[in-house]
Amino acid sequence: MVALGSEVDAVLAEPAGLSAERLNRACGAMLGLAIGDALGATVEFMTPREIAAQYGVHDRIRGGGWLKLPSGEVTDDTTMSFALAEAWLAAGGPPDARACADAFDAWMRAKPVDIGNTVRRGIVRWRLHGTAQAEPSSDAGNGATMRCLPVALATLGAEAEVIEAAALVQARVTHHNPLTDAATLSAVRMVQVAIAGAGVDGVLAEADALAARHAEFFFRDRRCDNPSGYIVDTMRAVCQAIAGQRGFEAVLVDVVNRGGDADTTGAIAGMIVGALAGETGLPAHWRQAVKAGVRMDCVRLASGLLELAPASRG
Ligand code: MG
Ligand code: MG
Repeated sequence: MVALGSEVDAVLAEPAGLSAERLNRACGAMLGLAIGDALGATVEFMTPREIAAQYGVHDRIRGGGWLKLPSGEVTDDTTMSFALAEAWLAAGGPPDARACADAFDAWMRAKPVDIGNTVRRGIVRWRLHGTAQAEPSSDAGNGATMRCLPVALATLGAEAEVIEAAALVQARVTHHNPLTDAATLSAVRMVQVAIAGAGVDGVLAEADALAARHAEFFFRDRRCDNPSGYIVDTMRAVCQAIAGQRGFEAVLVDVVNRGGDADTTGAIAGMIVGALAGETGLPAHWRQAVKAGVRMDCVRLASGLLELAPASRG
């Protein structure tokens, strides 16, 4: 990986003795992503009313849903993040656009349990034409944001332009839209400020900054139930849950019980509040409920990505 952070950044990002805490938060983010995905997948595409009728409050990892998942299994949100993470580790630094496209292509060939339309279109375009980046489009789906966590971990302590370039190069393999770009970068920053210890106020400051740049994302108003795969809906639901609840469990229960694209709102909320909570702050019953292989991948990949980060160079 190229040297990214300035010396000042490195000093700020590396207070002595805090790297164990950083690792705890990075693993918490990756496990939080998987937990939110596994929890939300059960109620994906249901309405809050249907969820209440069937489960009361859905707060247990139990599988099922329209994908008929085994309990503890995850979906594309987590497995695409893993694919991107592996590409970073294989490259030993930021994978270029073609390496990202190759990673997503291999992921699709492995027959994932689900795949979004925009993601499929982007990968098929890469296969047919060899173009690794999508043309600008009005399509503002949430598929680029749901898989951005590896960028947040591997660029911790990097300069802003480096973080932005890494966030967008992976996003634009499939999504090329000002709203998806902004949300992806914002989600990366939310995770990074959470790992840096800025707390929920730091995360919400990023959410407000996103709304200041693109008013569509303003979330401090009407409740967003049934969030669609439109990134604005997704981020509004996630930010409302983070602003309205305290603690990892309460935020995830709030966001997935809104239904709609619940595995993805769960995944994005999970990575952010997982970074706030750290691995040691995650509810044991949820952590245990995630499939063991997924759990091990979460920790292995989070550690590997963090090792690549400029913040980890003492
Ligand atoms: Mg999914
Ligand atoms: Mg989804």
